[in-house]
Amino acid sequence: MFGLMQEHKLLVSTLIEHAVNCHPDAEIVSRTVEGPIHRCTYRDIHQRAKQVANVLGALGVQRGNRVATLAWNGYRHMELYFGVSGTGAVLHTVNPRLFPEQLEYIINHAEDTVLFFDLSFVALVEKLLPRLNTVRTFVVMTDRVHMPECGIPGLLCYEDLLAAQSDSYVWPDLDENAATALCYTSGTTGMPKGVLYSHRSTVLHAFGACTVDSMAVSRSETALLVVPMFHVNAWSMPYVGAMSGAKLVLPGPALDGASVYQLLRDEQVTLALGVPTVWMMLLQHASTAGLKPIDELALRRVVIGGAAVPRAMVEAFERDFGAFVVHAWGMTEVSPMGTICNLLPKHRSLPLDQRMQVQAKQGRAVFGVSLKLTDENGQRLPHDGQAAGHLKIRGPWVAKAYYRDEGGPILDDEGYFDTGDVATIDTDGYMQITDRSKDVIKSGGEWISSIALENAAMGHLVIAEAAVIGIAHPKWQERPLMVVVVKPGQTLEREAVLNYLEGRVAKWWLPDDVVFVKELPHTATGKLLKAALREQFRDYRFP
Ligand code: ADP
Repeated sequence: MFGLMQEHKLLVSTLIEHAVNCHPDAEIVSRTVEGPIHRCTYRDIHQRAKQVANVLGALGVQRGNRVATLAWNGYRHMELYFGVSGTGAVLHTVNPRLFPEQLEYIINHAEDTVLFFDLSFVALVEKLLPRLNTVRTFVVMTDRVHMPECGIPGLLCYEDLLAAQSDSYVWPDLDENAATALCYTSGTTGMPKGVLYSHRSTVLHAFGACTVDSMAVSRSETALLVVPMFHVNAWSMPYVGAMSGAKLVLPGPALDGASVYQLLRDEQVTLALGVPTVWMMLLQHASTAGLKPIDELALRRVVIGGAAVPRAMVEAFERDFGAFVVHAWGMTEVSPMGTICNLLPKHRSLPLDQRMQVQAKQGRAVFGVSLKLTDENGQRLPHDGQAAGHLKIRGPWVAKAYYRDEGGPILDDEGYFDTGDVATIDTDGYMQITDRSKDVIKSGGEWISSIALENAAMGHLVIAEAAVIGIAHPKWQERPLMVVVVKPGQTLEREAVLNYLEGRVAKWWLPDDVVFVKELPHTATGKLLKAALREQFRDYRFP
């Protein structure tokens, strides 16, 4: 027997229609590439997204065609989010921080037909131009006054295109499983792979993100999206914004501490989202400039993910900003939200040290996704907070295959995707990443967590950054080598690092050696590039 309820499709266009019906006047504030702060509302985004849809029609874009963007967080990018996907075309947000050969690869692999880009990327597009095989239309996201002098043939002006189109457009009734957006992984492991989100997965993920034990986004929030719209759809916040009516603050290209602080203060931001690296810059700025964030700002929560959050950061936000850090874990293949670390009632009265141990965890699964841990043979491991195993995930916003990939199936017999992370899960369901499976150090049949060692070292006042890799060892198979970058103007001895770590990690985890370098290699998205580090230390032998 079937239920007797309506079968309304979950489409991205329904999000922006909801926004214009229920919170048309909620604001979108953008720091533009041209300089000034721009203010508009969901009503404006809705209207201009429809103009975008008509522009695409005029350019001959068909359903399913890929339309690329190379752009910062800003209102025009947001218009494209809804305008492109609403027509049934696929929005391919390209990460400009990738290396040129990766950019060339993914634009050709996606077979993008139109490329919309910010003024900041004119030189980059000129450079890529001779090697882009499928893009036939180039649009620079600015107005006539700011049109650049450049060698891109037939370059179109975004504002001219919109001005020529009406805002009357009826969103097509698409299949909710049709593709809506395409995002490539940042290639920590080999060439980037394409993850193709559907309308359904996107809307369900936005529902999940709004729930209270997840990111709890509502009309009362003013949310600063430091996380870029070119990387996993800014953790889906443009969709979440349209669903919830939160005021959105989009920082454009200015992600330095001073610019971010200014937006937090001027817009009285309550919720901010980003990776640890940007928050490091903000905290440094606040401390060197002698600011009093707790008096000036309205910040209540900071969602931090993409890499483990150092304890010092959680404490600094709490002490200096009066803001609670919500640790989150996810990945491109998971749209990206997998787990969120909110406290349970029983945690609220814990002493600081014990509460920090909870907040160091990546959190509990959001309704929709389920997690499991397995050993090397795919056998399930207990969720007892002790057993560390391969973290696997399934759910309606988890990828089942990569786009145009010859690599074969990516799910196991039970439909779970292997995240490539190693983790524990405790009896309350809190997951904690202990490593990436290829970074874990296998010493005498046991695993040493490189992340735990790095985090412990990062608590040292003089250490700016630390990375740990496994080095081949005749007796133990592998042993940890710690590579350290010292803060500017400071010095540090090997022994001092080892003394500091003693008592903070298990004795047998202590690195066999500590070496100092000027800088560590990072991926385009600011993550430690352990593959490059392993290459750098390929011939290293322990003393
Ligand atoms: P890529 O896989 O290309 O680096 P993603 O942005 O999809 O790009 O990265 C996902 C990975 O980032 C996860 O598999 C995990 O290793 C890491 N990660 C994400 N959030 C956290 C977190 N809170 N703590 C530790 N690692 C994290």
